[in-house]
Amino acid sequence: MSSSALVFCTACAARLDTSGQHPVCTGCGRTHFRDPKVGVGVVVHDAHGRLLLVRRGVGPGKGLWALPAGFVDADEDPRLAAARETREETGLQVEVGAVVDVYPTPGPSGASFFLAFRARVVGGELAAADDALDAAFFGLDELPELAFESTRDAARRAVAS
Ligand SMILES: [Zn+2]
Repeated sequence: MSSSALVFCTACAARLDTSGQHPVCTGCGRTHFRDPKVGVGVVVHDAHGRLLLVRRGVGPGKGLWALPAGFVDADEDPRLAAARETREETGLQVEVGAVVDVYPTPGPSGASFFLAFRARVVGGELAAADDALDAAFFGLDELPELAFESTRDAARRAVAS
């Protein structure tokens, strides 16, 4: 994470003491917490039980398939963020429902954790855009190569419950 390289206080520019779990400013005493980056996505099925996926145009997992997803902006409602990302990537308007699960996503890039929501289509026309190279519905027994293992898990749980 880039913030682990923080050396000087962003408030007063004094040097940070990085010996503890969180850097502490030697000047003003401020603790510099690392903010998690929150990813959100939707599990959407069509009338035939097929799963909505997008082919990722950006890394990680570029070229592979994943749930419509993206990052929550500052002060944004996570459900509205999930609906916004789905609209941007697939052209579909969705109503976002319950959380399917929360997935930790360790690694050098992407989110700190990922919230997968159930959602249903309420409007729009399927057309890939923004970060998505393609968008389509797939049967659960014919899924394409997936970028994240959480996709398969979330799809299975959303159907099972
Ligand atoms: Zn300071």
